[in-house]
Amino acid sequence: MRQTQIAVPTWREAAVDAESGGHRYLLRSGMIRQLAAGVYTYLPLGFRVLSKISAIIRQELSYAGAQEMLMPALQPAELWKTSGRYEVYGPELIRLKDRHHREFALGPTHEEVITSLIKQEISSYRQLPVAFFQIQTKFRDELRPRSGLLRGREFLMMDAYSFHNDYEGLDAFYEVMHAAYERILSRCGLEYRGVEADAGAIGGEGGSHEFMAFSGIGEDTIAVCGSCGYAANLEKAEVCLRTIEELSVACDEPASSFIKTILYSADGKAVAVLVRGDREVNEIKVKQALRVQELRLVEEREIAAWTGVLSGFSGPVGLTLPLLVDQEVALMSQGIVGANETDYHLRGVRPGKDFNLERTGDFRNAAEGDACPRCHGVLSMQRGIEVGHIFKLGEKYTSPFNAQVLQADGQSLTPVAGCYGIGVSRLMAAVSEQCHDEYGLIWPEEVAPFRVHLIPVSAKDELQKQAAEKLYQDLIGLGMEVLLDDREERPGVKFNDADLIGIPWRIIVGKRTGEGYVEVKRRGTQETETVSLEEAIRRVA
Ligand code: ATP
Ligand code: MG
Ligand code: MG
Ligand code: MG
Repeated sequence: MRQTQIAVPTWREAAVDAESGGHRYLLRSGMIRQLAAGVYTYLPLGFRVLSKISAIIRQELSYAGAQEMLMPALQPAELWKTSGRYEVYGPELIRLKDRHHREFALGPTHEEVITSLIKQEISSYRQLPVAFFQIQTKFRDELRPRSGLLRGREFLMMDAYSFHNDYEGLDAFYEVMHAAYERILSRCGLEYRGVEADAGAIGGEGGSHEFMAFSGIGEDTIAVCGSCGYAANLEKAEVCLRTIEELSVACDEPASSFIKTILYSADGKAVAVLVRGDREVNEIKVKQALRVQELRLVEEREIAAWTGVLSGFSGPVGLTLPLLVDQEVALMSQGIVGANETDYHLRGVRPGKDFNLERTGDFRNAAEGDACPRCHGVLSMQRGIEVGHIFKLGEKYTSPFNAQVLQADGQSLTPVAGCYGIGVSRLMAAVSEQCHDEYGLIWPEEVAPFRVHLIPVSAKDELQKQAAEKLYQDLIGLGMEVLLDDREERPGVKFNDADLIGIPWRIIVGKRTGEGYVEVKRRGTQETETVSLEEAIRRVA
């Protein structure tokens, strides 16, 4: 491609509103432009990067056995009412009405749509397992869109869904997807880590992993154990809220009206619930919501004994209902504590030391050097960007949609499902955060908009022009993606733009071209090597 034929509106100065290095360079290199908060246009170079990432995802997921499809963004509200999420999803769900006043939503995710399809199309166990994926625009009216593509309100997501006859099948495919995610992220050149994510009180039987790209501007904190390899997301707040939302689905009212706090064990199971208001009434509601038959009432001071701190909890503590264990002390000492409020959930805390409930809101994250909940090794904290999330849903959607399949013995059975997401545009942002220097972007080879940036130093020099043209044709002939800077610009302008854009290989056609020499430079390194034309081709191939 010739640079005179592609729109690359670079900016000399840092954009004023850029919140991070990656965002600043995506703007300055002319890859993206903002239309509204959290809503972006991908200019040709940016779109090439996005397409490269999508292509990697397509390849790896097809290899994993998932088939590509495309579902609508416009979704009837009925579907969301069936799953129970219409009420609980909150203002992030963009709702609208058509001209006949029928309610719709713009899809933030597609569990409802795919499950309704499965219900219609899959009737026999022989049709399972099955896995679909799509790469599609999602809508979430995020409270705080930030850092360009990192948290958009309209963004590109890969979402996959698998359906199985039993948990063995789901577990096996979950591992396949886990491995596919690792390959995708490695190929994108990302430094990342798969971490345990909280599965919440419902769906606790399933697993959930997040894939975190390391970055100082990440919104998540990851606790990593240096000894046993344990890695988990510290941010429990969101999971907790989601849990409360899920609980609300199981009963007919917002669960937050009767549950004050859920305490979790290290493996993500709810072990106790602090209840609001009337004990007796709420005990029944909690049982319903959590689908448990039996609950044991414990006194406030008993919790205080486990945690050493809850006695200071402000407001009516009510009671706790240990659900699944009788070794509360052991579990609690693994240190998961939290409240049903944003930023009020922690993992790996040491009660009495790491936080103090007496002063409302005075929580702090488990810190560097705390004991690992698994092996008592030392935890270190790192910031990360959630680029992917995989989740065992079980019957969470197949059950309310009544999507049953006939088994070999003639019985109807509810299939179990998994869902898997990658923020494609967020992934692009994460790479840009990790891969830049003070001059601009440094794209990893597989996601770079072009492989080679070919730059004749002087646009006026006929010899250079011809040599560059010939090299351009040769490289294209070899199947390489080349951007030829054929603009009539000063060398300084060309080189600055090339640094901003961040194409991995640069070939500079200059003074010694007459003798058959060009300069080769790898973006991100300082050295420029003078080599023969043939050698230059060999280097970049
Ligand atoms: P977050 O915790 O950052 O809000 P999430 O947990 O709500 O993300 P999921 O529902 O797990 O997101 O969606 C799957 C993937 O989609 C995420 O792992 C992330 O990579 C991406 N994603 C989610 N929200 C956004 C967004 N607003 N902009 C860009 N990508 C997003
Ligand atoms: Mg979110
Ligand atoms: Mg999240
Ligand atoms: Mg997530």
